[in-house]
Amino acid sequence: MAYEDLLSGLIELHVLYHAAEEEIFGLGMLEELRRHGYRISPGTLYPLLHRLMHRGYLQVRDMKLGRIRRRLYRATPKGRRALTAVRDQVRELMGELDEKPRRARMSQAKHGGTIEGKGEG
Ligand SMILES: [Zn+2]
Repeated sequence: MAYEDLLSGLIELHVLYHAAEEEIFGLGMLEELRRHGYRISPGTLYPLLHRLMHRGYLQVRDMKLGRIRRRLYRATPKGRRALTAVRDQVRELMGELDEKPRRARMSQAKHGGTIEGKGEG
């Protein structure tokens, strides 16, 4: 997938979001992500799930369906707290990415005051 390095954090948040809503499994999550336009492979998703588990954001349990064994992932309390904590920042970033470039506004409002008379000396 193009720009996977930049998108990996978003994919993690997407996975975490769904795991907070309900139990997820790898294949279902791959389909969900493809629906959203992320063309990622199992070779990317499974290590990602593993990393989220390792960091304590996801927990896993094995379920047997006849002869099929399925690993189900669910957000941990830490995972839910993390989602809540980053939600505002993600929203803010999305808002900013949607904005048309407005240089004057950026340089004044965001960086404090006018360009002249600040930062020099
Ligand atoms: Zn989704």
